[in-house]
Amino acid sequence: MMQQFGNYIAGEFRTSVDSNSNINPSDTSDIVGQYARATEQDVEDAIAAAAIAQDQWSQSTPQQRHDILDFVGNEILARKEELGRLLAREEGKTLPEGIGEAARAGQIFKFFAGEALRLTGDHLASVRPGVEVDVTREALGTVGIITPWNFPIAIPAWKIAPALCYGNTVVFKPADLVPGCAWAIAEILSRSGLPTGVFNLVMGRGSVVGEKIVTDRRIDGVTFTGSVATGSQIAAKCAARMAKFQMEMGGKNPLVVLDDADLDIAVDCAVNGAFFSTGQRCTASSRLIVTEGIHDRFVDAVIGKLQGLKVDDALAEGTHIGPVVDERQLTQDLDYINIAKAEGATLAFGGDRLERSKDGFYLQPALFTETENGMRINQEEVFGPVASVVKAKDYEQALYLANDTEFGLSSGICTTSLKYARHYKANAKAGMVMVNLPTAGVDYHVPFGGRKGSSFGSREQGRYAAEFFTTVKTAYTFG
Ligand code: NDP
Repeated sequence: MMQQFGNYIAGEFRTSVDSNSNINPSDTSDIVGQYARATEQDVEDAIAAAAIAQDQWSQSTPQQRHDILDFVGNEILARKEELGRLLAREEGKTLPEGIGEAARAGQIFKFFAGEALRLTGDHLASVRPGVEVDVTREALGTVGIITPWNFPIAIPAWKIAPALCYGNTVVFKPADLVPGCAWAIAEILSRSGLPTGVFNLVMGRGSVVGEKIVTDRRIDGVTFTGSVATGSQIAAKCAARMAKFQMEMGGKNPLVVLDDADLDIAVDCAVNGAFFSTGQRCTASSRLIVTEGIHDRFVDAVIGKLQGLKVDDALAEGTHIGPVVDERQLTQDLDYINIAKAEGATLAFGGDRLERSKDGFYLQPALFTETENGMRINQEEVFGPVASVVKAKDYEQALYLANDTEFGLSSGICTTSLKYARHYKANAKAGMVMVNLPTAGVDYHVPFGGRKGSSFGSREQGRYAAEFFTTVKTAYTFG
């Protein structure tokens, strides 16, 4: 029997009657570990512990919070190779991508360690004589954190670190597919000096664990990243009981390539943005909107680059693209490839399931050309290594097409024209705009989030994270 990694509830690791085999998508015979699936009683106990710990933790000093977050950040950074390997093994990102993500998680904890010391308020004179006004931020309370599988360590970090930084207690449910990195964070937090109950990990299914977190009245706010379908259900449930919520969801991110673009930069942006991390990024450039003058050269160069990419075991030396995360996601990717063909798109490259020496979920990156923006392949999120090219007459039409989507997370342009770059930054209807950079790949100290169907609520990351994790108090004093 394999050892079971337990949930972390009220300061103790607790195994469960139910558990989950964490399977390596590069090699399905490799079980990363056996992870507990929380029962309803476990979630009840985790919420109770977090609610009880809340008052005391919200009174902790900035120094205490700083030291704990700094400890966690330092340890993640010191162990980034090991944690990156775990990430690559359970999720399928390549090893360098996994190490990069682990390092980012460490930096996020260290950033919020600093933020704990920097929280400010306002002191104003009142409009009434002799009265003073103080505007301060206090912890939101007990927060539920629900995360997706595609960034198993960075997304938990960018929710847990600010939650603790601003004095909240936490009940954290990671995606059922990737409990390994979540458990590793919990294990580090368990040694960080946090008082009992402040942080709780409940692994397991969304329908059991997630549902209980979202509907329990002791949870003052829910921060969620995942699909639009799940996000809208959670938002409705939170709204029904007036709990605060923050939703980061899908994308259908455009990368516009203009005739005047530097071709090498444009091709790098497209290939990196669309296909790296197996295209499993909410910020992936899934729509490549290319003006007529550069279209054919761009398509040829992208195909040339794709031909040179190695799709293989995430941990193998030289792999550029790891496997798809699981069979279900691979089926979804293949279904969309068939849908695009049926819609009349031309499959210019790839799109086949690949056999490798180990049994895994390998997919050759797929590039479609001759597509129309209204096609399903250009309107619905695939969440795999699949991108399509849409031809545009000129900049104006390219901008129109880029914005013609229900999503609005990240939007990119490749151009050497200052005029178009400026205009695009001002007119792209997205939360993040990239000029001569891939649509995916962001800094950890500035806000992250989108518009329209991509996001709801205040921004995550950087100092903007305080908007969600705190509540504002206005105090009047006379005398
Ligand atoms: P899902 O929406 O399926 O799941 C996200 C999380 O919600 C998981 O932990 C899941 O649990 C949980 N969940 C599922 N059902 C419920 C429920 N009824 N109540 C509460 N929680 C529930 O997304 P995926 O994990 O499949 O992630 C892929 C999606 O995430 C893509 O659409 C992608 O675009 C989006 N995403 C968005 C990002 C952004 O910041 N905009 C970043 C990363 C991903 P379980 O694992 O058990 O299903």
